[in-house]
Amino acid sequence: MRTKVFIHTNESKTSNAVKTRLVAMLEKANFLVTDKFDKSINLLVCVGGDGTFLQAAHEYNFPDVPFIGINTGHLGFFQEIMPNQLDEFIYHYNTNKYRIQKITTVQAEIKTKEATHRLVGINEIQIKGPSTSSTHLNISISGSFIERFSGDGILVSTPSGSTAYNYSLGGCIVDPRINLLQVTPIAPINTTAYRCFTSSIVMPAELTLQVELDDYTKDTSLTLIYDGMPIVYDNIESVNFTMAKETINLLRFDSYDFWAKVKSKFI
Ligand code: NAP
Repeated sequence: MRTKVFIHTNESKTSNAVKTRLVAMLEKANFLVTDKFDKSINLLVCVGGDGTFLQAAHEYNFPDVPFIGINTGHLGFFQEIMPNQLDEFIYHYNTNKYRIQKITTVQAEIKTKEATHRLVGINEIQIKGPSTSSTHLNISISGSFIERFSGDGILVSTPSGSTAYNYSLGGCIVDPRINLLQVTPIAPINTTAYRCFTSSIVMPAELTLQVELDDYTKDTSLTLIYDGMPIVYDNIESVNFTMAKETINLLRFDSYDFWAKVKSKFI
């Protein structure tokens, strides 16, 4: 049976040129390239940066099919291969020289007076006030009260999101083989008036982070930002963060080494 491949790309000229080259190479190697994403495809190729990968995973609703990324962006934590490695990619795929890395995700369950909503993040989900004012949140982990947070908000990161916004906020880099959620404060206020943790909290993936608005907060709206996409919710009662059931199957070749990638990108 011929391997059916769907290629997702961002709008850039470079990515489109890589796509054209890849289509020709795949067809020559007897792959079937389709323009339509559906359940019958065997491989999803994503050409772009990490941002393009995030967009594709959301657009196709976390499909089971393996993803392989060709990096035309900056960092390429999700993106496995460079545009000059297309031959290698086809050879390794055809000779089964790859493994699947499961990417875990985080979910937020947002209870408002009217309804319950759910968001899924691959990198992270942030919770912030609706305006530029500071926000005051009561934070518990699986029923145990931790702190009253005051500041811009908090970010709940997955292991693979730890090298994204989480890292810029001073959170730690986590090896994606570890199952956990990292809670990183965004501009925490730490004065005699307000006391809260200024470092990240790391919690086991099976626990729940519960967030409620402190009585001090008059506005009951909050902004939830999942992988960079914001939504404002009104009349918030609570927001619970847990690991989500959605995962992404990333195809990795034998040469993949997370820590070598970290070193080459950050040091
Ligand atoms: P964006 O402009 O698409 O992305 C911002 C940068 O984050 C890009 O350089 C992107 O790499 C990189 N990135 C994305 N996921 C990453 C990961 N897992 N590890 C390392 N770097 C990663 O921004 P957006 O569309 O608003 O949001 C997408 C993601 O970008 C968010 O989930 C957030 O984590 C991250 N972000 C970071 C900052 C910051 O560090 N100050 C600010 C905003 C957003 P590519 O160039 O390869 O796409």
